[in-house]
Amino acid sequence: MEKQRFDGLGLSPEILKAVAQLGFEEATPIQSAAIPVLLAGGDLVGQSQTGSGKTAAFSIPAIEKIDPSSKAVQVLILCPTRELAEQVADEVHQLTAFKRSIHSVPIYGGASYDRQLFELKKGVQIVIGTPGRIIDHLERGTLKLDQLKVAILDEADRMLDMGFRDDIQKILDATPDERQTVFFSATLSGPIKQLISRYSRNAQTVAIERKDVAAPAIDQWFYEIPPRGKTQSLIRLVDFHGFRLGIIFCNTQRMVDELADALLAQGFSADRLHGGITQAQRTRVMNKFKNSEFEFLVATDVAARGIDVDDLEVVINYDLPHDPEDYVHRIGRTGRAGRKGMAATFVSGRDIYKIQYLEKFTHSRIRRGNIPTPSEVEGKRSEQMLEKVRALLTSGNYPDQMQFTDRLMEEGFQATEVCSALFSLLLGQGGADQPSSPQSLNLPMQLEPHEGFAKPKGGKKIPFPTGAPSNAPRPGFKPGFKPQFEKGNTSKFAKGFKKDRGPRY
Ligand code: AMP
Repeated sequence: MEKQRFDGLGLSPEILKAVAQLGFEEATPIQSAAIPVLLAGGDLVGQSQTGSGKTAAFSIPAIEKIDPSSKAVQVLILCPTRELAEQVADEVHQLTAFKRSIHSVPIYGGASYDRQLFELKKGVQIVIGTPGRIIDHLERGTLKLDQLKVAILDEADRMLDMGFRDDIQKILDATPDERQTVFFSATLSGPIKQLISRYSRNAQTVAIERKDVAAPAIDQWFYEIPPRGKTQSLIRLVDFHGFRLGIIFCNTQRMVDELADALLAQGFSADRLHGGITQAQRTRVMNKFKNSEFEFLVATDVAARGIDVDDLEVVINYDLPHDPEDYVHRIGRTGRAGRKGMAATFVSGRDIYKIQYLEKFTHSRIRRGNIPTPSEVEGKRSEQMLEKVRALLTSGNYPDQMQFTDRLMEEGFQATEVCSALFSLLLGQGGADQPSSPQSLNLPMQLEPHEGFAKPKGGKKIPFPTGAPSNAPRPGFKPGFKPQFEKGNTSKFAKGFKKDRGPRY
């Protein structure tokens, strides 16, 4: 199924505004298929997984059907659990942000009746709830469904498995026959088919079929992370592996903006691409990325589609994509041309089971990884630094700085002490009043970019700085880019130079 733009689906300006505010760039496959059918008034059976965007697929057209001048309940969304009801209510709330006369209320067991009664009395057009509590309100006469226009059963198969069949039937029997009925279900077993045939008319089935696609042969990992810990985990992962060129995918424009800002604040050279950015600016960012002028591109799928940079070290799925085909497109940008690429996918909460699905879909293995601890990152940085110093010593390609060593030794310091102090400075562990960045030491500036550092196309090497610091910014220097490790060092060069960042975790 082709994905469509929201503005081609015949939606109201208020919904388009809400969708834009949520940062959705284009409709997911289930939304592209279901929204037109539902707007046309047909009954529908939708088969798609959680995470495919099904909530918006049934909520958006239902919201569009509401007569805002009436305070009667016009849309009912039944969910199997309180958690799902809360999630759906939250999304409905955001989708109705610009429809000021439309109100919704979640109604589920375990929550206080008082608040629910208060909301119901005020008049709400959308009720989202679990069957048991909906029945309670119907029996008390506090909820009336006689003017219902749309009944939606989310995760209908699960509701039947949980023994809600009688409740569902009672509820649907309390609604007008001419209502629109929508079933969403992962499976279509016998009992669910019976329910569909009893309560819907000529329901159209919309299933999101997947053609299996082979994933490119690259290292695929997933990391289970609580949503709040994602940015820090990302930083640790990048620092641990020493990645210098990658794309980080997010699902919404808002997330792209938040993450790009967070990375810039942490001293990364990063930029962003999403559909909310002007075409001229997008072209500029793409060209800069192609020329390796910054390290991390934070992007949505739509915006990243036109980029033909394919020799990335890493692709990070900061958000799990809604469409498995997007997963394959995303990760296929790394591991090309004999390079060893890595794809890292962050999952939170219920998303975890989708990893198995992706493995099946891509016929490949996605291994569970652990985000390195701060001390592991520190250890790795030290190892990398040691390796660089060893390589430099072996090459002999560095200017003689003996006068400094001699002076310090004349003052009574041992050579080993001098080395320890220098390593501390290199690793950003110098004392508070010491420069913690390596700029003043000259040393790593003579190093070649490490092996994984992508060279720009056409064999042109990035003129990596050599010799004494100059005032010329390193390619990739971004105005406003402030690495965290250097306090008090204001040279432009130092701002752009982040070969050895201090610890950030
Ligand atoms: P669902 O399948 O309804 O559980 O959706 C999972 C998540 O996808 C929710 O957090 C939605 O906010 C988000 N979402 C839904 N539609 C889109 C879209 N078109 N683009 C980006 N994110 C979306």
